[in-house]
Amino acid sequence: MLFVLTAVLGLVFGTALAFYSNGYFSQVGEEVYDPEPGGGGAVTTPEEHYDGALNNMLAKKLLGKSVSPVAGLKKGKVAYLTIDDGPSKNTPKILEILGNYNVKATFFVNGWNKKNFSEMLRMIKEEGHAIGNHTYSHRYGIIYSSVENFMADLKKLEEMIYEATGTRTNIVRFPGGSDNLVSVRYGGKDIMKEIAEKVKEEGYIYVDWNASAGDASTPPLTKEQMKEAVRMTTKGKNPVVLLLHDMDSKKDTVEILPWIIEYLQGEGYEFDVIDYTFTGFEKVNRTDYWRENTAKGGK
Ligand SMILES: [Zn+2]
Repeated sequence: MLFVLTAVLGLVFGTALAFYSNGYFSQVGEEVYDPEPGGGGAVTTPEEHYDGALNNMLAKKLLGKSVSPVAGLKKGKVAYLTIDDGPSKNTPKILEILGNYNVKATFFVNGWNKKNFSEMLRMIKEEGHAIGNHTYSHRYGIIYSSVENFMADLKKLEEMIYEATGTRTNIVRFPGGSDNLVSVRYGGKDIMKEIAEKVKEEGYIYVDWNASAGDASTPPLTKEQMKEAVRMTTKGKNPVVLLLHDMDSKKDTVEILPWIIEYLQGEGYEFDVIDYTFTGFEKVNRTDYWRENTAKGGK
C-alpha cells in the first residue's frame, strides 16, 4: 500500500512539476485546485499552495473528491506588497531593494507606452516575484467602456507578458479597484460587476487591496505622511495587501520601500506573493486614512 501511495505521489508530483516548470500550472489550475469563491483569503507560501494542489490531486484520485488544500496551513502574519503600474525607470531600483531584503512582491504591470517592457518583465520573473495583469492600457475610457474592450485590453497584455517571460498570469488587478466609480462614466453603473463576472468566468482571479501607502494621492503625500498611511492602514490586519506604485514619478515610494519592509517585519509579518489560489480580496478597503485625519485637523 505504501509503495502504491509513493508511486502515485511520484507520478502526481512529476506531472505537476512538469506543468509548473512550463509555466502551465496556472492554466490548468481550475482542474487541480478549485478554490471556493471568496473563501476567506486563505494564505500560504508558494510551496504550501503547491503541496495543497498536490494533496488535492491525490485526494481526487484516491477518494474521488476534492479537499480544501490551503485553508489554515499558514498561521503567522502575512503581508503582500503589490506594486502597480510598472514597469518604470524605478523598477531596477525596486528589484534591488527587494533583493537586498530577500522579499518577494507582486507586480501588477501595464503594457502601453512602456520602454524595456520585456527586459524588465524578465528581471521581475527571474528575481522570483509574481506578475499580475493590470491591463495593457490602464485607460479608463477604453477598458471600462465595455466588457469586450476590457477583455481585449487584458488579453493584449497577457500575450505581451507571455512573450516576455514564457509565463501566463491569470491574476488581475483592476485599475482603480473593482469598486471604482470612474468606470460608471464610460460603461454604465453595472460595468464593473459585468467585467468582474466575465473575468472570473474566464478563469482569472482579481485582487484588490486593504492597505495603501497613499503614494498616488493628490496632492502628493510627503514621505512621513506615506509612512503614517502605511502604519494606520495595515494596523491589525492579516493578511495585509499593500498598494504601492512603480512609476517614473514615484521616487518617494522607492525611497521609503526599505522602511516599509522593515516596519512590516518589525510588526511580525512575513512576505508572500499572490498566486492563483488567492481569494477573499475582491473588494477594495478604501481606508482613506490620511484624508479623514487631515479633514479632522490632524496634519
Ligand atoms: Zn494602476
